[in-house]
Amino acid sequence: MYHHIKKLMYTVRVDAPDPRFGNMLLEQFGGANGELAAAMQYSIQGLNCTDLARKDLLMDIGTEELSHLEIVGTLARMHLKPMKKSREAAEADPLVAIAGGGGITLCNSMGNPWTADYLKITGELDVDLRSNIAAEARAKIVYERLINFCDDAGTIDALQFLMTREITHMKAFMAALESMGKNPLEIGAIPPTPGIVDKFFNDSTGEGDEGESDARGPWNEGNGFDYVEGPAKPIAEATEAEVRSEIVQGVSRTRRATKPSPRSKRLRQSGKN
Ligand code: MN
Ligand code: MN
Repeated sequence: MYHHIKKLMYTVRVDAPDPRFGNMLLEQFGGANGELAAAMQYSIQGLNCTDLARKDLLMDIGTEELSHLEIVGTLARMHLKPMKKSREAAEADPLVAIAGGGGITLCNSMGNPWTADYLKITGELDVDLRSNIAAEARAKIVYERLINFCDDAGTIDALQFLMTREITHMKAFMAALESMGKNPLEIGAIPPTPGIVDKFFNDSTGEGDEGESDARGPWNEGNGFDYVEGPAKPIAEATEAEVRSEIVQGVSRTRRATKPSPRSKRLRQSGKN
């Protein structure tokens, strides 16, 4: 069950409201990496979880994310408030100003409604924990960008708190995954096919205009990897040769077609063309 306490988890202060920044903040309210997505993802994973210790972790963090949602919503509302009266402020986000009366709705910064499509829930605990580690990393970087685009000290203070909590969660999810004692490549129950699992296909070949080349590193060298030239490369090269010859033929056909005929040459010379 949920219980609401009328105090924010972290007290927020906005020194100078900035409606344009309020709009950016909506990304962490109703956006893909926002607090509602985090709260729903972890809480619903928790409902699916039969490992009672890690279910507790998911419910603890899922519930904390709801408290973050409340902080971001409060902060966004404070920044959007001038839209209620000022035409200039309303221009920062006409949708919020006209349809929402300068209040917050469950939309991202572009006005797209929140969707459950944002959630990553597989019902396989270790797979879900990996999604959560990645989700926390995304939330962290979005907060960092918001901080970088903010010049209000009170707002930065709250965002710094929210950003920090994501790292705490990331650490907890990482520890929970590690404590399951599974080999990191052991996903599900069916083992991968030997011989296929070790092959690394060099599927992006050639030299790029910015100096890109076929790089080697621990992702395709050593670590049991077998580096294989891209299976489609001979076909791609053959196709490239065909395309080039088609272009050459096409160009020469066009040249022949546009070559003036002897008759039109005669007409031009006689000035009648
Ligand atoms: Mn959060
Ligand atoms: Mn988090």
